[in-house]
Amino acid sequence: MSASYSSKPLLSIPSLLLLCLIFGCGLLAHSTDNSLFGPISPTDYLSGCFDPETHPLFVKISEYGIPGNRVHYLRRETAEALKNMYDAMKKDMPAVKFWVQSSTRNWNTQKSIWTRRWHEIAMREKKAKASDIVAAILRSSSMPGTSRHHWGTDFDINILKNDYYRKGNGALVYQWLKKHAAAFGFCQPYTAGRSAGYVEERWHWSYMPLAMVYQKKWNELFSKHPDSILQGDGFIGDRTAVAIAPVYVNSIDASCFQGDAQEQSE
Ligand SMILES: [Zn+2]
Repeated sequence: MSASYSSKPLLSIPSLLLLCLIFGCGLLAHSTDNSLFGPISPTDYLSGCFDPETHPLFVKISEYGIPGNRVHYLRRETAEALKNMYDAMKKDMPAVKFWVQSSTRNWNTQKSIWTRRWHEIAMREKKAKASDIVAAILRSSSMPGTSRHHWGTDFDINILKNDYYRKGNGALVYQWLKKHAAAFGFCQPYTAGRSAGYVEERWHWSYMPLAMVYQKKWNELFSKHPDSILQGDGFIGDRTAVAIAPVYVNSIDASCFQGDAQEQSE
């Protein structure tokens, strides 16, 4: 991630050192965690074990004037940037239709998706091994505890089909986003032509200034405690799935790591 998209530090280095002397650095470390994770543990946040409706760092996007197909919650920073991007898109194309279709999903919601997909595939492919079913689900759906939708930084728009974005309203929205989204901090993580991970998703967009922080934190957590993404009684096929989780978390488009805000003024 380039410096131009890094979140601005709230305090200068000398101020931090002074506060360290007064309060001790443990308190500061806690306050940093608090601004990233709120009142819940990093593990619960990173694995989606919370309710965005009651989490204080999340906002209802309708209150920011962002259209959605139902009530949606995102991190406040994501919603603010998305509102700016939506306003710019509507200024360029007043008649275009844009809405949020899916936003923050927690661990339980992701487990429901995973379980439904598992049974669909197992019914269809009677002789499929666990590893085959896991691979089939992971073409397009995340396992619980690994979805970028847990973080409040990612959302899906309009229609969840790549073909929709090849003509008409979908093409207008997608081509505009390809040209301008980076200027607002957004990227499409799941592009065509990547060597691993989920297949192309033209509808999925990520707010990188925050998402890159959580992706790094998720990798740190997983490398020390891989089972931390499991909660309660886990999910069907979890032993097979968890082993390959980092491939899916980290196989995102290279443009997401750049984020140069070069053309917002065009
Ligand atoms: Zn998505």
